[in-house]
Amino acid sequence: MKDKKIDELKKKLEHKRKKGWENLSAKKEKEIFGFAEQYKRFLNENKTERETVLYYKNRAQQHGYSENSSEKLIVSNRGKNLMLIREGKKPIDEGVRIIASHVDCPRIDLKQNPLYEDSDLAFFHTHYYGGIKKYQWANIPLEIRGTVITKGEKQINVRIGEEEGAIFVVPDLCPHLSRKAQNDKKAPEVITGENLALLVGSMPEQGEGKDLVKLHILKILNQNYGIVEEDLISSELEVVPAMKAMDLGIDKSMVAGYGQDDRICAFASAEALFDAEAPLYTTIVFFADKEEIGSDGATGMNSMFLIRGIYKAAAAFGNSLNELGLLDLLSKSGALSADVNGAVNPLYKSVYENDNASFLGRGIVVTKFTGHGGKYMANDADAEWVGHIREILNKADILWQTGELGKVDEGGGGTVAKFLARYGMNVIDAGPALISMHSPYEVSSKVDLYETYRAYKQFIEEG
Ligand code: MN
Ligand code: MN
Repeated sequence: MKDKKIDELKKKLEHKRKKGWENLSAKKEKEIFGFAEQYKRFLNENKTERETVLYYKNRAQQHGYSENSSEKLIVSNRGKNLMLIREGKKPIDEGVRIIASHVDCPRIDLKQNPLYEDSDLAFFHTHYYGGIKKYQWANIPLEIRGTVITKGEKQINVRIGEEEGAIFVVPDLCPHLSRKAQNDKKAPEVITGENLALLVGSMPEQGEGKDLVKLHILKILNQNYGIVEEDLISSELEVVPAMKAMDLGIDKSMVAGYGQDDRICAFASAEALFDAEAPLYTTIVFFADKEEIGSDGATGMNSMFLIRGIYKAAAAFGNSLNELGLLDLLSKSGALSADVNGAVNPLYKSVYENDNASFLGRGIVVTKFTGHGGKYMANDADAEWVGHIREILNKADILWQTGELGKVDEGGGGTVAKFLARYGMNVIDAGPALISMHSPYEVSSKVDLYETYRAYKQFIEEG
């Protein structure tokens, strides 16, 4: 009798060490790999927040969502921030369930006066967006995607990259000459912000004059897009890796691709919303912008957009809300901050504390608190909400693990969680773990992607 109890306790302790690829049926393996194919196609089509929002607006419409539906609502904000809202079995004033991911990714933005010529070469000045290791972006294939507002406030979409037959690089210095200019410097200074300039041309316009290479580039931009130099001032042009998402490994068990933080959660949450049975609570799949630069701005989580969406949903689903009703609704609500965690990279063991770190291939990571040293700037979920989420995941036999972002004194980071918590609702971070997060080519596990989708679907159905 006594021994049996000990065995049971041992089994419980092993939870954290459960692995996704073990004891897998052939059917489930097929599902995992099939889902990853769909995911890679999504990553390749959509590399910016605008593209991702447009893609899921269209996909939602195919699933019966519209801007004036009485059960499946689309609420969009400036083309960069989106809510898909599905009516629940319970009335909306009993609270909503939110799965909030972000669709902006670390990248390099063009400056407003980008084009210049130096030493017979044309370049674009840039200013990077979000927390990148700048040296990772030198001498890799890059492409430009974005929007230019021309004279008369006409919107032109620009896309120059792999599919259009031209890529760009940020040229680095050859090792033969880098002894003083780079080799003795700290990693963040090896490539400076201003040296993150994009090489865009080398062929002069025929004739006499100054800056003829630059002039030739302007001529081509004008011919192809009707753009003049001043138009670039009113543009949002994003430089993103021109590398297709690919299977990683001889066993093809992983996906390497750009922008998986956090489009992996955007993809998993939206697909879960489409596939879920009737949601228990009214459910909002929220795509935030500006998360990588602190969530401020009109399209960031720290704006009033969520509130507008909830009022709209209440009206559409036949409940009218006053201000107190809204605050009551928010306090009864619960959210998953659907964002990625940093999986243990065994090449850099010193930054992780293994009992609380997350591992690739061990399922969705439930992160009770974020922030940094001393839990500053954190959302720290209530034990009750952690217990509720645990219960939902365990009941459906979903593979999950707990996680933290590195050792206590090592670093840290934030998500949209604290901006949701501000409304007095329950919030916890839940998403897969990545290796090489914020790099131009991030690494995820196919089994984690699938378990994340299953977890979100369960949360939608069981709340
Ligand atoms: Mn993120
Ligand atoms: Mn991030």
